[in-house]
Amino acid sequence: MKNDIRNISSDALKSWLISHGEKPFRAKQIMHWLWKQPVQDFDEMTNLSKPLRHALKSDFVLSQLHLVTTQNSSDGTVKTGFRLSDNEFIEGVLIPSKERVTACISTQVGCRMGCKFCATAGLGFHRNLSAGEIYLQVWHLNQIAEEHYKTGLSNIVIMGMGEPLDNYSAVTTAVQFLTGDEGLGMSHRRITLSTAGVADKIKQMADDGIKIKLSLSLHAVNDKLRSQIMPINNKHTIQVLAESLQYYHGKTNHRISYEYVLLKNINDQEIHARELAEFTKITPCKINLIEYNPVSGLGFEKSTEESTQRFMKFLEGRNLIVKLRRSRGADVDAACGQLANKFRNK
Ligand code: SAH
Repeated sequence: MKNDIRNISSDALKSWLISHGEKPFRAKQIMHWLWKQPVQDFDEMTNLSKPLRHALKSDFVLSQLHLVTTQNSSDGTVKTGFRLSDNEFIEGVLIPSKERVTACISTQVGCRMGCKFCATAGLGFHRNLSAGEIYLQVWHLNQIAEEHYKTGLSNIVIMGMGEPLDNYSAVTTAVQFLTGDEGLGMSHRRITLSTAGVADKIKQMADDGIKIKLSLSLHAVNDKLRSQIMPINNKHTIQVLAESLQYYHGKTNHRISYEYVLLKNINDQEIHARELAEFTKITPCKINLIEYNPVSGLGFEKSTEESTQRFMKFLEGRNLIVKLRRSRGADVDAACGQLANKFRNK
């Protein structure tokens, strides 16, 4: 099978050019067509000679991503569906607010984490996205944002379908182009990666100097409960996670964000708030309480408004920085944990 040209480095591209009797500066032109002004076909690389385009075509393929559905929520959220070259399907979401336009992007087709409350888990795992596919998703969402809201993306949250740290190399390569001059040139500080807690990869992010923000989907702070709702906890236990977060903070000095989805009568009682306050002492942090978006058949309900307020007050009383994230886009199944390719076959 031919390699996707977006999987190779600029240096590898230069060597390829030299071995084909071409000047290495052509790599810069090609990189432009791959990342800055992405094309779907080598023939669109108009400043390259025909023989060079032909040679590229015979050795490489171009990752493809076709926008096939857009659904507009009554709150302004836009859910998009993209078809990939092997007919797999992924979803991305645009979330506008007063001062931002945020893109929520996918990193895998399906997911293998198996979180009990999440719709994506029901798809099982199909495959990883390539760096090119992750990047193109953002590029398309940026175009749609320009059309819809007359402004490009201000923020990216890597919180769509899939577990980003289970696809580490493609995700970090995509981030390199999202932030680099060759690509979209966004600031690292405006990109957040959310993980179910792949502890060794959290450490690797720190070691590799990946500067984007880190958010951990915590949802429970004792091993018994967390393992029940998030099977990854059987391997990456609370203790293992705590160590990786301390290591990450020690190396990067970044504050950790926690996501905590409030599930009625499961993790929303005072005892849980107390455990959470205790746990989060390990590093400077911020806590995002998330309203649960019910997924039919999974048997979880969102917390009552009263329990939610009580939970939040308890944490605030411990001087923690807490935000309540209200659900967005739920009427088109675009909210957290609702991305499940429902429109795939439409
Ligand atoms: N795999 C990554 C990113 C994708 S999920 C992770 O686990 O962090 C993004 C966030 O949505 C996670 O915090 C996840 O636990 C949460 N989530 C999943 N299903 C949800 C639902 N139905 N309602 C609200 N949040 C949900």
